[in-house]
Amino acid sequence: MKQFTLSVVIPVYNEEGSIEPLLKRLLAVVKAYKYEIVFVNDGSKDHTVEKIKEHTAHNANIKLLSFNRNFGHQLALVAGYTVASGDCVVSIDADLQDPPEIIADMVEKWLKGAKIVYAKRKKRDVDSAFKKITARLFYRFIGALSETEVPDNVGDFRLLDKEVVDLLKTLPEHSPFLRGLVAWTGYPSDYVYFDREERTSGTTHYSFTKMLDFALDGITSFSARPLRIASYIGFITAFLGFIGIVYAIVGRFLLPIPWVTGWSALFVGIMFFGGVQLITIGIIGEYIGKIYIESLNRPHYLIKEKVNL
Ligand code: UDP
Ligand code: MG
Repeated sequence: MKQFTLSVVIPVYNEEGSIEPLLKRLLAVVKAYKYEIVFVNDGSKDHTVEKIKEHTAHNANIKLLSFNRNFGHQLALVAGYTVASGDCVVSIDADLQDPPEIIADMVEKWLKGAKIVYAKRKKRDVDSAFKKITARLFYRFIGALSETEVPDNVGDFRLLDKEVVDLLKTLPEHSPFLRGLVAWTGYPSDYVYFDREERTSGTTHYSFTKMLDFALDGITSFSARPLRIASYIGFITAFLGFIGIVYAIVGRFLLPIPWVTGWSALFVGIMFFGGVQLITIGIIGEYIGKIYIESLNRPHYLIKEKVNL
């Protein structure tokens, strides 16, 4: 038995089929340490809670925090970080896409001094080509836009030192982009590698629109540069417009061209500038929306029940 406590935080949303196989593999790993397993039930509508309670009843190290409703994966993680009491905290998905066995390697790296240990996917064979491409594009994009280097092929499977967790849970953000924030803290980090597995049961909860929302949240919470880009686009199009104006006036008064045509040019111009304006307003709106949500200052999540906590 080593002299520290390991916390494992697991957000669960409709994972009734995953609890049994997950605990079987996870307990085999964590029993080497002083441990706690914290399930954060993110408003599941199936029998997830009952399944977890079968275990909390006779193992006080297994704990449950239940939300009133679905508040989302990231806030479930934050809630787990808030109640976790370990010296290091591992966050892992419930669906066994992240193999619990490598937690032992993560703990080793942490003992050697890393404050953050990421589990990095070696290959993403089980993910669709579409998910692979969009994920790569997203990390490129966010890398180009913000000063924070968000590591590629790293999800929310990671180990954090207590120090990092204490910092993360004080952040007031309502839509935290945790993998960015973790990198943003700048603590010394290390990697362990794994192959992402198939889901044990059920299907992903990240639909295309949810992924898009997640990506937009990530970008807007890490960079104000899209606003700058909007201004640049504004300047460029205004400049093009100015050239157009000079051309039209010179053509009308000085050049001997028959000056009638131009309906298509007009139409294209209006469509183009209309589009640019809408995009720009949309970008500004994204940020104003964020300011609005934060200014309401509502609690991040509502807790219905705590077991063994
Ligand atoms: N999850 C959650 N709240 C949600 C959606 C998902 O707590 O609103 C949990 C889910 O139970 C799982 C983890 O977050 O443990 C990752 O979700 P999922 O496997 O659906 O995402 P993917 O692996 O497809 O990215
Ligand atoms: Mg999954």
